[in-house]
Amino acid sequence: MKIYNTLTRQKEEFKSNIEDEVRMYTCGPTVYNYAHIGNLRAYLFMDNLRRVLKYNGYKLKHVMNITDVGHLVSDADEGEDKMMKAARRENKDPYEIAEFYMNAFFKDLDDLNVDRPEIIARATEHIKIMEEYVKKIIENGYTYQTDDTIYFDTSKLDKYGVLSNRKVEDQKAGARVEFDTGKKNISDFALWIKAPENHIMKWDSFFGKCYPGWHLECSAMGYKYLGENFDIHTGGIDHIPIHHENEIAQSKGFSGKIPANYWMHVNFMLVNGEKMSKSLGNVYTLSDLKEKGYEPMDFKMLMFTSTYRSQMNFTWDALDSAKVSLQRLREGYLKELDGNDRIDELEIKDYENRFSEAINDDLNMPVAMSVVWDIIKNQKKSKDFANLLLKFDEVLGLDLKNYKKQDDKLPDEIVELVSKRDEARNSKDWAESDRIRDLLISKGYKVQDTKEGTVVKKG
Ligand code: AMP
Ligand code: ZN
Repeated sequence: MKIYNTLTRQKEEFKSNIEDEVRMYTCGPTVYNYAHIGNLRAYLFMDNLRRVLKYNGYKLKHVMNITDVGHLVSDADEGEDKMMKAARRENKDPYEIAEFYMNAFFKDLDDLNVDRPEIIARATEHIKIMEEYVKKIIENGYTYQTDDTIYFDTSKLDKYGVLSNRKVEDQKAGARVEFDTGKKNISDFALWIKAPENHIMKWDSFFGKCYPGWHLECSAMGYKYLGENFDIHTGGIDHIPIHHENEIAQSKGFSGKIPANYWMHVNFMLVNGEKMSKSLGNVYTLSDLKEKGYEPMDFKMLMFTSTYRSQMNFTWDALDSAKVSLQRLREGYLKELDGNDRIDELEIKDYENRFSEAINDDLNMPVAMSVVWDIIKNQKKSKDFANLLLKFDEVLGLDLKNYKKQDDKLPDEIVELVSKRDEARNSKDWAESDRIRDLLISKGYKVQDTKEGTVVKKG
């Protein structure tokens, strides 16, 4: 399996530290708002990578953090804490904000059939380990402090900026910061910050009541669950120049090591060729897509039309095409299920090899999908092909197995009525139960009462 490693700027053969097991870390969301479809692209990449690794036979130990404290409006320690800002916007406690948007995020992942990491780690539940981590960096001599902040001194490193390959001049000690932060070098960053009086999220520590700098959680939690050196670290390309450089700096200050061997970054999504932004009114959520009549799986299907390293341009036309493709794939799968043609084993093997080659070439999903279409287009129809498509679906995660013929499927409205009728019957509200039965009949359904509850059939 080959993957592109941002650290070495080339595609490399992947080799895990432990045979058969991959230890991996993904930078998760800051839970201060609904995830937009750009964010979701990042987690669909994560899903894709997990599934490809599993397809290759690896066990996974994968950590994703949930940032619920410490991420300031700018990644470079400026502005307000995003959680506090959201709390003010919605007149709520920051913990309530975190809980609410974290659950909304998980709902999105479930809707997209995303394979979740084994370990989900919330920053606020790991403050102690972060404090210990900072203390060790201090002990190792990589910090300095101002009245209210402990900073990481990037000039103490042999090199800062190994991922983005920054020039040494950019980070030379003494390249003074223009603004008044008390930083010595422009690339220095806050590890541990004294909380102002009005700051809600703060913890007692060796430096007074503090909160952690944003970058710290990933280093500390990665270390806690995966050790000083693990296999893969993933995130969005926006993480490369600051967040991941700082994670690497922290790990070097802590243990002398770069925490992960392979760094993978997913590119951005544009909408109609423009950056997603509130002012352009083009920030869409999964709910927006659903309201317009798309299924989450249509969006997932769309993601397979580009590789994760290329910028992706979201348009409604493209989403329409993805919807049509998904339907074609599902119908194609059902036809294979009904098929009785005999297929040579070698032919199956050939498709399988081509599919594996594509996914193992740095997750080349457009090529992998072309193999899927070749199967669907094949004149012969066979259960062997259906099984092969199900096997490929371990990587695609489109839940083909549970797809039913559209005619057999009840519309959502009818499913809802059936469940309301069962509730009414359970609470012996016979008038309501009869009312819903009549309503179902008027909509053209036969209604039957069974031990398991209401059963309806069209016609
Ligand atoms: P955040 O919750 O803001 O920390 O972002 C969560 C993830 O979404 C990060 O990995 C970002 O790199 C990623 N991300 C943010 N905007 C976009 C975008 N327009 N396209 C793709 N990924 C994005
Ligand atoms: Zn991170």
